[in-house]
Amino acid sequence: MSEKINALKAEISAATAKTQEELEGYRLKFISRKSVLGELFADMKNVAPEDRKAYGQAVNEVKQQAEEKFKELIAGLESSDAGSKSSAPIDLTLPPNVNLGTVHPLTYIHNRIVEIFQKIGFNVADGPEIEDDFHNFTALNFPENHPAREMQDTFFIESNPDIALRTHTSSVQIRVMENQKPPFRTLAPGRVFRNEAISARAHCFFHQVEGFFVDKNVGLVDLKQTLYYFAKELFGQDTKVRFRPSYFPFTEPSAEMDISCNICKGKGCNICKYSGWVEILGSGMIDPNVLENCGIDSEEYTGFAFGMGIERIAMLKFQVNDLRLYSENDVRFLNQFKHLS
Ligand SMILES: [Zn+2]
Repeated sequence: MSEKINALKAEISAATAKTQEELEGYRLKFISRKSVLGELFADMKNVAPEDRKAYGQAVNEVKQQAEEKFKELIAGLESSDAGSKSSAPIDLTLPPNVNLGTVHPLTYIHNRIVEIFQKIGFNVADGPEIEDDFHNFTALNFPENHPAREMQDTFFIESNPDIALRTHTSSVQIRVMENQKPPFRTLAPGRVFRNEAISARAHCFFHQVEGFFVDKNVGLVDLKQTLYYFAKELFGQDTKVRFRPSYFPFTEPSAEMDISCNICKGKGCNICKYSGWVEILGSGMIDPNVLENCGIDSEEYTGFAFGMGIERIAMLKFQVNDLRLYSENDVRFLNQFKHLS
């Protein structure tokens, strides 16, 4: 029996604890209710009555030794923790280790478009995302039965069918024209909403930039030169441009503008569907009705307008072919645009 006690004493005096786990191991083995010392106390009943006093003393000594050692180990661990903290050199000149955010690709494209048009004298206007029928449709020459007014395209406010989430930034064009006097050279970027199922190619919200230019003697040639300048600035000086006749209620004549595919350089790829051309915007001469709706004399003033989707431009610039990625805020996606910051 005394051999066992001596072995325990030696084990306790040799014990160390460099970590909290080792300290806990020591506590379980020598201090807790189920420790080896507990077993020694339980063995008391097997000891001959005349030896019990000596045995009890010996076990109590071990218990005391174990408790003192435990305090030592705690103190040792605390001082080594404190020591490691205070001895770590602090270099106050180092920059803080912060993972900085990146510019969102849509913000980058938005800023680039604004920058390009600001160089030729365009200013930036803003308008409400919740619009009334007049600014979103009627003033823009949408006929009463135009399909865009139907429920599948537009988010209407249930209690008031006159109020809707704007379906395009063209509503800002109306707000500027009715409140200010021409000439106008204005860009209206912003978020727009459509009642569409979310997929890789469609989303219930996206971003547009509307631009318009109204002055005396503005003609189709001004529209073409302005947009040609824009395409070259954004996609490179070797970019080719073509206009295709189109229809929009608020412009007459209307045209969609294609650029030579910047990915395959016009040779044909799956982005341009092997045509060598990709559509980037809609444009046209502002319909005289729209000018008159805003109190502008269409005999004196003419103008052109254009609109483009920021996601569409970003898709062509960065070859991102799933619209959902732009609003999911997945850092694995966003970190790929660190170089833009
Ligand atoms: Zn292509």
